Amino acid sequence: MKVAIIGAGVAGMTTAYELASQNHEVSVFDRRGSSAEEGSFANSGILSHYENAPWARAGMGWDIFSGAFKSYTATRLQKWRWHDLKWLRKCAANNNSDSFGEHFRQLIKLSQYSQACLQQLRQNLHLEYDQSNGHLVLLRDEEDEFSSEPVLEVLREVGSNFKILSEQEARLIEPALNPETPIHQAIYFPEDEAGNCRQFTLLLKGVCEGLGVNFHFNSTVQALQAGKKPQVILRDQSLSFDAVVVCAGLSSAALLKPLGIKLPQTTWQAYSISASVREPMDAPKSSVMDERYKVSISRLGQRVRISGAREIGDNTKHQEVSLSMLYKVLDDWFPGAARIQDSIQVWKGAYPVLSDSKPVLGTARVPGVWLNMAHGLNAWTQACGSARIVSRQISDRQNEIDVTGLGLDRYYKNS
Ligand SMILES: Cc1cc2nc3c(=O)[nH]c(=O)nc-3n(C[C@H](O)[C@H](O)[C@H](O)COP(=O)(O)OP(=O)(O)OC[C@H]3O[C@@H](n4cnc5c(N)ncnc54)[C@H](O)[C@@H]3O)c2cc1C
Repeated sequence: MKVAIIGAGVAGMTTAYELASQNHEVSVFDRRGSSAEEGSFANSGILSHYENAPWARAGMGWDIFSGAFKSYTATRLQKWRWHDLKWLRKCAANNNSDSFGEHFRQLIKLSQYSQACLQQLRQNLHLEYDQSNGHLVLLRDEEDEFSSEPVLEVLREVGSNFKILSEQEARLIEPALNPETPIHQAIYFPEDEAGNCRQFTLLLKGVCEGLGVNFHFNSTVQALQAGKKPQVILRDQSLSFDAVVVCAGLSSAALLKPLGIKLPQTTWQAYSISASVREPMDAPKSSVMDERYKVSISRLGQRVRISGAREIGDNTKHQEVSLSMLYKVLDDWFPGAARIQDSIQVWKGAYPVLSDSKPVLGTARVPGVWLNMAHGLNAWTQACGSARIVSRQISDRQNEIDVTGLGLDRYYKNS
């Protein structure tokens, strides 16, 4: 089949690889000059079942509201915009403690599958990128312990491998943790990973080129036309394919709207600061998450990446208060780990989040159009599995895992 992929981020690239290795003729279109230039550019790099839990859960409304009155908060509403408030109301209506568990179990299945696919790719294709194993969640007090409990409850139920650690045990896992910042408790996930998503995507691009994938950079897709031979409409030409896969990150919604597909989506943004390791003995060995502020500190080769400060809204301007929270958390846990006085990379990335915090995978319910999008803050974690699921569906092959609850049909149950 002749297949077009819109978007050369991690979702598009993994989809291109899967389809090309199933012998399809693949073309990838991206409006940027290279791959991984938008949401996949400088993410925290964490692949974790714990962090993959749906954001939408009981208590989130209060967290957002009370956060507005705090200097530092995990998730901030940029403005009290009608669209975002309506979206938050939808989240609250769709997410009680039962549906949280249901959504989370589906996401765990996807992230476990994804991790297996990633490990297989890494091994078979000899992909070498900055990567480390293990993820440590730091709880500052009983309140953090309380907020982590619903997530752990589901992870226990599905038999996920984790350990609750005392302060001393946590310090053995990450010896550089600042002794002056007390740890109430920690949760350790030995099988989670951290890895450089952009490096991985670029390496996979090289593999895709070897498999004959055609890349069209600086090519904005202006519209899509569904049909037996779906059309990709560019500025000066329109090309026809047997199938089109939408992996256009935040812009996917705009491409789908004219096809009658409307999703309960809003824009989130978050930051990362990357700096060289100053002294390896003072830096984390792998990834660490501060549960209260939801700020992660990950070790990516010779760099430390501090990431978090989620904002709901589409204002791309950097907010001082958000960045200063990242520096504060770094200083609390790993002072002196990174050369933050030298040249650092500060990045603010945007991504779409749906009201149930799950991606949309599979048919778009219009002929010839397929979706691999809206993975929210876990696109890297879910990328390899999502790509395999969608490409197997396109190839009319049976899925290797149960994908109930991950398709577009969940929004159109009664139509
Ligand atoms: C600060 C931050 C930290 C994060 N941390 C993590 C993490 O630790 N773990 C994790 O799993 N995830 C994390 N994420 C989420 C994740 O990295 C991204 O959301 C993800 O990489 C998005 O991948 P994507 O391929 O879906 O979209 P993108 O990477 O945004 O790719 C979409 C591509 O489509 C192209 N495009 C869009 N519209 C068009 C068009 N009309 N025509 C042609 N091309 C088009 C864009 O140029 C872009 O290249 C984080 C995100 C941020 C912002």
